[in-house]
Amino acid sequence: MNTTFSCVGCGKCCNDHHVPLTLAEARMWAADGGQVIVLVEAFLANGLGLPMQQREHAERRSIVVRSGACEAHVAITFAAYNVGPCRNLDEDNLCRIYQRRPLVCRIYPMEINPHIPLNPAIKECPPESWETGPDLIIGGELVDQELAGLIQRSRQADRDEIQAKEAICALLGIRTTALKGDGFTAYLPDMTAFAMVIDQVAQQPLAGSGGEWVFHVSGDDIAGQVLAAGAQVATEAPLNYAFISLRAA
Ligand code: SF4
Ligand code: SF4
Repeated sequence: MNTTFSCVGCGKCCNDHHVPLTLAEARMWAADGGQVIVLVEAFLANGLGLPMQQREHAERRSIVVRSGACEAHVAITFAAYNVGPCRNLDEDNLCRIYQRRPLVCRIYPMEINPHIPLNPAIKECPPESWETGPDLIIGGELVDQELAGLIQRSRQADRDEIQAKEAICALLGIRTTALKGDGFTAYLPDMTAFAMVIDQVAQQPLAGSGGEWVFHVSGDDIAGQVLAAGAQVATEAPLNYAFISLRAA
């Protein structure tokens, strides 16, 4: 199926969207006075939490860590914490940092995950943006090669930066993950500390922390599966994070 698209500048994608950031973008966000949210999910080496068709993509953007007696693959997202309008959106719905806006802002409404096809129905863009404009997708292929290049860059950054992000998390005391598919753990680190730790890891690259992770899960049934695999489950109430459940209530 073919898709046409033209951004109508409504600004909706700049509201209430936590925008995933590369490491350099996260550092820039901190320098600008913004808040970064850290979202963590993991699957187990035995496949618990891993949709089979996503194995390669999920493995490449994660790092192998220890949890109890088994290995887990942790994926970490640093994102601009946008509750309501983004701090860079002006009163005319224009981006104040347009020339240096994050990669993902340049890519929207396309998806970064290769397993998620573009679905206009779930995007913020209004119907008129899909009715006119140049071809976006023809025969399932993205027309704009520059845009395709940006998506590749974003995916590559995810893979290249996971070790540094895990080391940054260790230095910030971020050690509890959710099980992929069950939810995310979400942290709002102090941004002064966050910036210092990014600089520290940039100067002295670490191949991950080697430290232990524990799982926060949505209920006893999932906890039983995680424990049976040999991994550790958090037993204390969250101190420095929130658990965002993906489970239907
Ligand atoms: S940085 Fe600019 S383009 Fe990106 S969400 Fe904020 S206002 Fe929108
Ligand atoms: S929601 Fe879509 S149409 Fe509106 S500003 Fe964002 S990309 Fe453009």
